[in-house]
Amino acid sequence: MKVEFYKHNVSEEDKMECRKVLDSLFLTTGEMVKQFEEQLARYLGVEHAVGVMSCTDALFLALRYCGVGPGDQVITTPLSFIATANAIEYCGAQPVFVDVDGATGNIDVRRIEAAITPRTKVILPVHLYGQMADMKTVRTIADRHALKIIEDCAHCIEGERDGIKPGQLGDVGCFSFYATKNITCGEGGALVAHTADAAAWLSRARLHGMSKNAADRYAKKYEHYDMEFLGYKMNMTNIAAALLVHQLESIEQLLVKKEAVSQQYDTGFRDNSHIARPAVVPGSKHARHLYTIWVNSAKRDEYMHALQEKGIGVAVNFRPIHLMKYYREKYQYAPGSYPAAENIGNATITIPLYPKLTADEVAYVIAAVNEVVTA
Ligand SMILES: *Cc1c(COP(=O)(O)O)cnc(C)c1O
Repeated sequence: MKVEFYKHNVSEEDKMECRKVLDSLFLTTGEMVKQFEEQLARYLGVEHAVGVMSCTDALFLALRYCGVGPGDQVITTPLSFIATANAIEYCGAQPVFVDVDGATGNIDVRRIEAAITPRTKVILPVHLYGQMADMKTVRTIADRHALKIIEDCAHCIEGERDGIKPGQLGDVGCFSFYATKNITCGEGGALVAHTADAAAWLSRARLHGMSKNAADRYAKKYEHYDMEFLGYKMNMTNIAAALLVHQLESIEQLLVKKEAVSQQYDTGFRDNSHIARPAVVPGSKHARHLYTIWVNSAKRDEYMHALQEKGIGVAVNFRPIHLMKYYREKYQYAPGSYPAAENIGNATITIPLYPKLTADEVAYVIAAVNEVVTA
């Protein structure tokens, strides 16, 4: 049997919506993007959303909006995709890592205050695997030190914790619609924010700092645009937005299926003492982006290859960022710098989790993992 690591959920309805855009005049930013932004903001219970081309773009724009530049520091987690830290580097600022909670893999909020210096501008938590970080505590710490919060919500659109949704407590939230994410248009991202000023700045910054976009200039009596500040080129297209609107409408049904698979996995691995899994904290609704198992780190690669041999798609999320060559050399990190993140990074295997998995495939994965992971 072959079990793909991931299958997207682009439906006939999504293709029809996309077709409508392709038959229209505006392939780039216009009505469809606006519709998706309003829908996303409504779903998340926030005031504003702004569509961009990736979550990496969103993180970069959010950092620039918060005034992050050369000499500044941003506190984040080493257990994430490299994009989280790279966006900080793009600003000329320094990522300051805080080790994770060994039970969940999320940033350990008890360690954040010790990492704050006079150069700290922003705290940037990641809602790892789909479970939200402890945002209430992060907000309390940020307020006490007059810092901004940017949330990396690339794994977590559907989540909730302590009554709070992704993007609600941060100053800016950043989302990804990359090929393997919870909903996808191949490449895409969005920011959410709470004030009209923030939304206006972000939607200009994504398009050269121009005062009007092409659709505005075309639809109404021609007005000259001005360039108010030096912006970038990161605007979402109508084509991308068309692929997302129906996926977002069905996101809760998609989550029900992912939740069912996760529970089957939980049950299937319960009696295997060689497999540990990230904890789901009480009061947390998990967005079920990634299902990871933690195994004997001396055997991890061997197990992963054995699962591949059995036709199962696997991945590692994540080997910690501080041990990537660029960061290791630039900031002189070594193994031992962030032990909890390293332990997870050395032990983790991600197995397939998506709504299209069949009962046979799930049963096959459970049997294969239990057969392989025996020490
Ligand atoms: C995928 C991912 C990103 C980057 O998203 P893109 O849309 O590919 O730029 C950022 N952070 C995390 C945690 C991710 O998993």
